[in-house]
Amino acid sequence: MKREHVIKPILDHPYPTIQYGKGVYLYDDQGKAYIDGCSGAVTAGIGHGVQEIVDAMMEQASKVSFVYRSQFTSEPAEQLAKKLSDLAPGNDYWTFFVNSGSEATETAMKMAIQYWQERGRPGKNKVISRRMSYHGITMGALSMSGHVLRRRRFIPLLADLPVVAPPYCYRCPLGKTSPSCQMACADDLNTAIKRIGAEHIAAFIAEPIIGAAGGAIVPPAGYYKKIKEICEQHDILFIADEVMTGIARTGAMFGMEHYGVEPDLIALGKGMSAGYTPMAATMAKDHVMEPILQGSKSIMSGHTYSANPQSAAISLAVLAYIEKHQLVEAAEIKGTILLNRLRQMADGIAIIGDVRGQGLLIALEFVADRTEKRMFAANIGVTSRMIEKAFHKGLLVYPAGGAVDGEGDAIIVAPPLVITEEEIDQLVRILAESIREVM
Ligand code: PLP
Repeated sequence: MKREHVIKPILDHPYPTIQYGKGVYLYDDQGKAYIDGCSGAVTAGIGHGVQEIVDAMMEQASKVSFVYRSQFTSEPAEQLAKKLSDLAPGNDYWTFFVNSGSEATETAMKMAIQYWQERGRPGKNKVISRRMSYHGITMGALSMSGHVLRRRRFIPLLADLPVVAPPYCYRCPLGKTSPSCQMACADDLNTAIKRIGAEHIAAFIAEPIIGAAGGAIVPPAGYYKKIKEICEQHDILFIADEVMTGIARTGAMFGMEHYGVEPDLIALGKGMSAGYTPMAATMAKDHVMEPILQGSKSIMSGHTYSANPQSAAISLAVLAYIEKHQLVEAAEIKGTILLNRLRQMADGIAIIGDVRGQGLLIALEFVADRTEKRMFAANIGVTSRMIEKAFHKGLLVYPAGGAVDGEGDAIIVAPPLVITEEEIDQLVRILAESIREVM
């Protein structure tokens, strides 16, 4: 056995060593360029090597990088929480800083449970999620995730939480067709609440647009309004997991803006620091904080690095960069161009069943038969072979699907929001070649 020291995702796979990045490109130590067609893990929203962020990083580091949250607050943390509230739907959020998307959704879950405890209803302690979902890898977050592959080994340790049907119109889990279904998938939440009893349910969690578990699954218009109404009717908090959709990615600062709904709690990660530092957040509306403020006055969660001024200063600089360069608008404009180009490309490639998305969060779903929407068998590995081909040709795309029963093939295309039209052309050309080579 040869020890390599760093435990990598696949132990016997050779990973190139990256040297530096600039804009939408990454360069390895052999001088090979990769176009970052998925912003890493849908994270590097403003692109690589942005000097303004480096300057903000250095400026804060020269003052103080770390203080512990139970001893001090800091100007960057205070300013960032205020900024996030100003940007969010309804503008009345408090923020609890954490370091990863998993911590953000898990903290949202804990805050929802605590909220009901403080209101004298401790029996409301279950969180409903959707069968096709990914909310993170830590045990609480994984308990709320429908991602079978990521759960399988740990099932005995996971909380047994209820799930409902996702709004997956391309392949409706309820066998219905939109719009005649009248959003039966939203009614599935109502049915689950009645079965379990609202007195046992703290919250419902959903990704505004389903990411890794299915590939940019955009719900029908009106779905979230209906979901929010159902939650309100039954005294259930609504948590929007905006870890992938948040901070400009979908052509709105928050994905939920597309649906005109103000979530009670929001989980953020990835794009809020655009990969320049680990940083994530759980945001809670005034009315969620109120009973806690009147009660125990303390959220029972937190991590050593929560709200460290270094990461907060970096996130503030990322938000300033997004505003200065109008990247929310850019995500919408470039997203429309990319979606159209990918749809044109798909016309000539039989194994592409669906091209969907919002802003610069786009996915292609692969099928063995386009008319019947028949999936490839899991062992064929279309997604992984395609991703590998593209990687060799210098294009990065992100895997999706595999959530429900290990089957389903999709890739996410989500380049940095600064991508140019020429770079979009290059991305689409390499992608088309790569897909054709696995057919
Ligand atoms: N929630 C969503 C919607 C995600 O896409 C992810 C990561 O892909 C997470 C939560 C978990 O975030 P992290 O990997 O930063 O823990």
